[in-house]
Amino acid sequence: MITLEYPELLASAYAVQPAPPTFVVEDPANGEVLAWVGISDIATVRNTIEMAQAVQPAWAARPALERGRILRRIADLLMQHQADLALILTREQGKPLTEARGEIAFAASFFEWFAEEGRRAYGEVIPPPQADKRLLTVRQPAGVAAAITPWNFPVSMIARKAAAALAAGCAMVIKPAEQTPLSALALLRLAHDAGLPEGLLSVVTADRAGAVAIGEEFCHNPAVRVLSFTGSTQVGRKLAEASANGVKRLALELGGNAPFVVFEDADLDEAVRGALASKFRNSGQTCVSANRILVHENVHDAFVARFAEEVRRLKVGNGREPGVEQGPLIDAKAVDKVEKLVADAVEKGARVLHGGGRHALGRTFYEPTVLSDVTADMAVFNTEIFGPVAPLIRFRTEAEALELANATEAGLAAYFYTRDVQRVFRFAEGLRYGMVGINSAMISLPEAPFGGIRQSGLGREGARLGLEEYLDVKYLCIGQG
Ligand code: NAP
Repeated sequence: MITLEYPELLASAYAVQPAPPTFVVEDPANGEVLAWVGISDIATVRNTIEMAQAVQPAWAARPALERGRILRRIADLLMQHQADLALILTREQGKPLTEARGEIAFAASFFEWFAEEGRRAYGEVIPPPQADKRLLTVRQPAGVAAAITPWNFPVSMIARKAAAALAAGCAMVIKPAEQTPLSALALLRLAHDAGLPEGLLSVVTADRAGAVAIGEEFCHNPAVRVLSFTGSTQVGRKLAEASANGVKRLALELGGNAPFVVFEDADLDEAVRGALASKFRNSGQTCVSANRILVHENVHDAFVARFAEEVRRLKVGNGREPGVEQGPLIDAKAVDKVEKLVADAVEKGARVLHGGGRHALGRTFYEPTVLSDVTADMAVFNTEIFGPVAPLIRFRTEAEALELANATEAGLAAYFYTRDVQRVFRFAEGLRYGMVGINSAMISLPEAPFGGIRQSGLGREGARLGLEEYLDVKYLCIGQG
């Protein structure tokens, strides 16, 4: 069990294995058992949705200012318990403590943002085409929302959804990932401490088999009006199909395959810093991680030398140890996947400039790896790696860079580094992605719309648009007889 200053954060997880049905939560760094969590059966999930439906109208009826005050308190409590929450996150997910602390602050920033943004759910007054009519729109909460979230950002992916839903006046039922339920339960505890009414925000937990059943319930239960999912494109597609009958509103934040393009006029130090942060944050397990690093032939060797040097310096270890920058991957399966991708690349002619194998620390650790001479026929080019492997590709012209960058069905994030102002617009407009970082690799902010196009999803989170996912537009036509 994890020792906390505020042990109530884990009051709903068990320190000792209770009678089944439960599942175990382990530390990916060493396999240590952290806790057992109950599996919510379908009757419990239905009751939770019913409860959400029962309490949502009273919440929606409260002024946005009042709802915002509670959201603001959640943000404050997240920051007050940042150290405990970061420890829970690092223990169950593996990321270094400094990154975990950063994620808690990032999660808090969504509650802070939506606490204010809920007050701006404006309608419109529309100039009528006839003198005897007045036309207007109002925005109303959609009702009960359900969320399914991944393990790679177990607090902030929930915060980004829940803060928007609650600010809009909706209730939300959340199913966190099997590997990281403790962060979700801790967040829920703080939301209740902040004064959120019972039943308005709930967490149901399950292992993979249970997740499928809960997903089906979310898709088929008529009380659920919005389904917000963050995870793989494969599962997102299944949920879209299953929820089609109920004509639910869907928000899908799916996988990426981000190109990171370094032009010959780039500030190379900045580009190296950006590539390093984008590629190796969370050991490469982020949806907006640089998946393919394209470098102009004139600066290729200089960039690669500096980049590989920085990668060599990365400290790998248990995320709880001071100074560690690379923790374990989420599980042994993730290491197997990375190993296969690297083997395929090497077989097809890629060169390993650093790393390239399992790390001596054990079954969930993989060496930070740099591969050069990567080509478009390699699996590493076409697959979301989700691990600490940086594939480098040489290009000659801007047109070639654009073609390579867009050569994927994914469309989440892309990055490029240049000092040419005209190229900034030209290249940004040519990229088929929902988000583009230009001379910047850290683009996720509560104020900005996060989301993808094509196979990377539907809808936006954060920003003004994030609120829209949970609001219905109602048009009023008033006769003036
Ligand atoms: P995943 O396998 O799709 O799982 C995501 C969530 O869906 C988990 O809670 C999982 O539960 C649940 N799930 C799995 N199969 C399901 C099913 N058939 N029905 C209902 N729920 C199901 O994805 P992951 O491996 O955890 O996360 C990595 C993926 O998420 C990557 O592709 C990454 O790019 C993407 N991601 C996208 C964003 C974004 O904002 N676009 C952000 C973060 C991550 P269990 O854990 O119990 O299996």
